[in-house]
Amino acid sequence: MGKVMIIGAGGVGRVVAHKCAQVPESFNEIMLASRNLSKCEKIKAEIKERTGRDIEVAKVDADNVSDLVSLIKRFGPDIVVNVALPYQDLKIMDACLEAGVNYIDTANYEPPDVAHFEYSWQWAYQERFKQKGLMAVLGSGFDPGVSNVFCAYAQKNLFDEINYIDILDCNAGNHGHPFATNFNPEINIREVTQVVKYWENGRWVETPPILDPKSVHFGFDYPVVGTKESYLLYHEELESLVRNIKGLKRIRFWMTFSENYLTHLRVLQNIGMTRIDSVNYDGVDVVPIKFLKALLPDPATLGTNYTGKTVIGNVMTGLKDGKTRSVYIYNVCDHSESFREVGAQAVSYTTGVPAMICALMVMKGIWKGKGVFNMEQLDPDPFMEALNKHGLPWKQVEFSGELPK
Ligand code: NDP
Repeated sequence: MGKVMIIGAGGVGRVVAHKCAQVPESFNEIMLASRNLSKCEKIKAEIKERTGRDIEVAKVDADNVSDLVSLIKRFGPDIVVNVALPYQDLKIMDACLEAGVNYIDTANYEPPDVAHFEYSWQWAYQERFKQKGLMAVLGSGFDPGVSNVFCAYAQKNLFDEINYIDILDCNAGNHGHPFATNFNPEINIREVTQVVKYWENGRWVETPPILDPKSVHFGFDYPVVGTKESYLLYHEELESLVRNIKGLKRIRFWMTFSENYLTHLRVLQNIGMTRIDSVNYDGVDVVPIKFLKALLPDPATLGTNYTGKTVIGNVMTGLKDGKTRSVYIYNVCDHSESFREVGAQAVSYTTGVPAMICALMVMKGIWKGKGVFNMEQLDPDPFMEALNKHGLPWKQVEFSGELPK
């Protein structure tokens, strides 16, 4: 039995809260805290209706460490699940250290004024977490998160060494809006407009951003949903996986984008609406991307009419007993089924379920350790079992399809 505190009442926070409430034998007390109390209260009421359980809610600005420490100390959780925004990661880690609580998140730190993310800022907390005897697990959504666990599982159970990894993320759903992002629009657009990088033979190779006519893309034949155009994209799990997977020669990340999405984004970028610096309009400083976020549909509300599926998984090629082998491990998640279960679309669902499972692993002591960890550094087997149990069943097949050389 344990206590969990969830920070951030957005699309992902909603799923984490619902899924924790579904496991009363492990999470006997749940608090959802966010900067907007009414969002927490709405989720609390839905959880009461669906599960009969009461959760606590609180208003907190996670950028204010002392307020957050007071709240953590008052509630006394075993673990804090940070599903606010990447901007808050370091502040929430500071608060956990001060209050003496374990920490997990789903996205690595990003400074608000530079569209750049990397693990160095959070890896720098290694010694402090070790000294306090606490555990921080970084990136416990689907990708990063399950994508890392798939690698660890393959490394432990399927290969002697893995040489090539391609992580392929497909959203073949339709939300019915002309343009919307599936998670926080500001974070999403900052991520997908960056220069692309993949890793090969010990070095990072740059390719043009997805909006560039020279971007790298190909049609991958996904299970269930068929062939979809998939674009090379830099994604944060590549940074930790190149450190932790033995024998790696190349790792890439691919994501599907529709022509419609790319066209809207191209126009928004060309007219300056994705800028992250402030512009003075009529005596008021406005950051265009923040204003754009205010205009776009809230990802947490997209679920209502969302149809179709996400298919996310890894193709991994390597050696087993001297022979080359290619394995594809993937999950298929349905938007409308997710909505029926927890009132959220599949992108929030596939992020929130692994975060709940990670909290479960740490709270029950199945994942133990002192310091800062990425998901692939922990035993994948109990996590893989829990995915099947808690709504994200996975499949493993021998892969004989085509990938770009
Ligand atoms: P949302 O914008 O829907 O939710 C974020 C929530 O955090 C909002 O409720 C927001 O409050 C709250 N928040 C923001 N700043 C603060 C603050 N200073 N103090 C307290 N609360 C705050 O985002 P999502 O739910 O879509 O995404 C949540 C996280 O999950 C993001 O970090 C995202 O990058 C990550 N993610 C990870 C994925 C993965 O597979 N690993 C995939 C998808 C998302 P308010 O309601 O007032 O805006």
